[in-house]
Amino acid sequence: MQIVGAKLRTTKILPLSFQLSLLRTACSLISSNSYICLFGTKNFSVLATPPYNSLLSFHLRNGRIDEARSLFNKISSPGVNLYTMMIGGYAEKGRLDDALKLFYEMPVKDLISWNSMLKGCLKCGDLSMACNMFEKMSERNVVSWTTIIDGLLEFGRVEVAERLFWEMPTKDVAAWNSMVHGFFSNGRIEDAIELFEKMPSRNVISWTSVIGGLDQNGRSFEALVFFQKMLASFFKPTSSTLACALTACANICASFMGVKIHGLIVKTGYCFDEYVSASLITFYANCKLIENASSIFNDNTHRNVVVWTALVTGYGLNGKHEDALQVFKGMMRMCVLPNQSSLTSALNSCCGLEAVDRGREVHTVAHKLGLENDIFVSNSLIVMYTKCGHINDGIAVFTKMSRKNVVSWNSIIVGCAQHGFGMWALTLFTQMIRMRVDPDEITLVGLLSACSHSGMLKKGRCFFKHFGKNLRIEMTNEHYVSMVDLLGRCGQLEEAEALIHNMPSKANYMVWLALLSSSTNHSNVDVAERAAKCVLDLQPNCSAAYTLLSNLYASTGKWTEVSKIRKKMKDEGILKQPGSSWITIKGIKHDFVSGDRSHPLRRKIYQKLEWLRGKLKELGYVPDPKFSLHDVETEQKEEMLSYHSERLAIGFGLISTVEGSTITVMKNLRICGDCHNAIKLISKVVGREIVVRDTSRFHHFRSGMCSCGDYW
Ligand code: ZN
Ligand code: ZN
Repeated sequence: MQIVGAKLRTTKILPLSFQLSLLRTACSLISSNSYICLFGTKNFSVLATPPYNSLLSFHLRNGRIDEARSLFNKISSPGVNLYTMMIGGYAEKGRLDDALKLFYEMPVKDLISWNSMLKGCLKCGDLSMACNMFEKMSERNVVSWTTIIDGLLEFGRVEVAERLFWEMPTKDVAAWNSMVHGFFSNGRIEDAIELFEKMPSRNVISWTSVIGGLDQNGRSFEALVFFQKMLASFFKPTSSTLACALTACANICASFMGVKIHGLIVKTGYCFDEYVSASLITFYANCKLIENASSIFNDNTHRNVVVWTALVTGYGLNGKHEDALQVFKGMMRMCVLPNQSSLTSALNSCCGLEAVDRGREVHTVAHKLGLENDIFVSNSLIVMYTKCGHINDGIAVFTKMSRKNVVSWNSIIVGCAQHGFGMWALTLFTQMIRMRVDPDEITLVGLLSACSHSGMLKKGRCFFKHFGKNLRIEMTNEHYVSMVDLLGRCGQLEEAEALIHNMPSKANYMVWLALLSSSTNHSNVDVAERAAKCVLDLQPNCSAAYTLLSNLYASTGKWTEVSKIRKKMKDEGILKQPGSSWITIKGIKHDFVSGDRSHPLRRKIYQKLEWLRGKLKELGYVPDPKFSLHDVETEQKEEMLSYHSERLAIGFGLISTVEGSTITVMKNLRICGDCHNAIKLISKVVGREIVVRDTSRFHHFRSGMCSCGDYW
């Protein structure tokens, strides 16, 4: 077709008969057979308008605006419809000036051309020009009114849109639908419902707008009530209606209703619609029925990127990260190109597996697809790198981003805080304010944890006060957890306890647990006992509270209390979470528990640790038996300490990686004070950086020091 079009422009060189045969071919390809009867005449330029018309629209459809224009210029007196087509083409390309110029050049303008210009202004984002145009129109029809109302709503000018809507002489159902939809997308839910109730007649689009609108505004239950009303009124749902209703079911885990809708989908034959399938997968995945989700996927042979992505996301949501990444791989094997959502979900799963190597692979895919700088993908990359212990890679992604939103800033601030780079987090916050990005509640969590992990009490107090008072950010339990943690770490246990008592709403158990943890660190039995009581009142089976209290008693030598707690835990069937650490080498995760002797390389690991014990002793290291937490003899305690799970993982890391490389170990509990001291020295002895992530943060051990500055 391109060749035919190209040849047509060279009409002067070719013999007329050949030109006509080419035109016939072109027209038949454009399926405009009716024009062909006009050929065979000598006066080509006069009678050729209809084929020009088709060719012009062909160029415009393919985005070849300049070719369309040069063809347009050749037409001796183009009609209104050709002008209108050209104007639409310019608007499509965002070339408003060209569109307007042509519009003013038009010898005669009809209502369609005015409407088209109006639409063009809105398409190019110029609302005031559109309003201007609308004012100038001598004649308006329902399309003109609906177009301007839609435009105003899209720009958030709801009041003006509303006024025009009521001024509109005759309103068709499309106009009513526009207004209902506009109210919803501008958060005016009650007005939307009221207007819907007032509608003189409704079609399926009206119902779909209400269902989708309610769901998107967090009122999924009502959305489903409207869906049922719709069915009771004998309206036949379309694929969009079904997808909206399923999304509502997914959001509130309404599994019974969702399964019923699934039945309806099968009955109405929509089960092979790709968007409906994707919604079904998401619905089952959200309701934790991942097997059903995967069977929907398997039954469907038409899988577009939306369907594939729904399953990747679904597996991730159910904690099945390995499966999610397998589906992601399968998708690429089937040559379905991932979009930003697929990449984001895959990166989340890499993060869930703490597998930075897999994350780097996804990063490469994003790079190849040119989606590396997409704001959502970049944000996920930052989270993936920082959570996997690679803060520098996270910062590199952040720095490269051309456009950043509040999520990008929050992700990097939280990342720096977790890695103990408190000052960096605060510097980034200053930059964020300078770039006029409004901070939100997550920014405050990041800042408080940055202050907490770096012992910056004064700054933390400042942020806490400022955000609550000046930025009017609602303080949640999470903020109080961070603030209590900060006060507690700095030894201000009384202030922390008073803060909890003065909370506007009742504290949840996490807030009390933060106080309990802090009082344990400061060996303050009184505060710890009060905090533990509050935790257990709210969360009777909280094993962390029992463990913390029992450890505190053990470290202060109160062995009778320890055995009381142990008995209570046993009686109530509360299990202590066993400590474990893991390290990933060449994509394989190696797990260790304290004193583990199950690893195939155990002999070598223990040899290495034994060698380190000697080296550490030379540096003056004395094990601190306070952290052994078992009622046993001192020598035995020392032995136990040397084989805490993180040390076994580090020992394995040392014998399985090249000299000088960084070792990254993850731990499911808080690192104990003795291991912390020992690892600092180990980093000095072996001349390597050792990164340990425990429950509260990342520790970067380098040349005998830790990035946390012993605050953790
Ligand atoms: Zn330890
Ligand atoms: Zn540390």
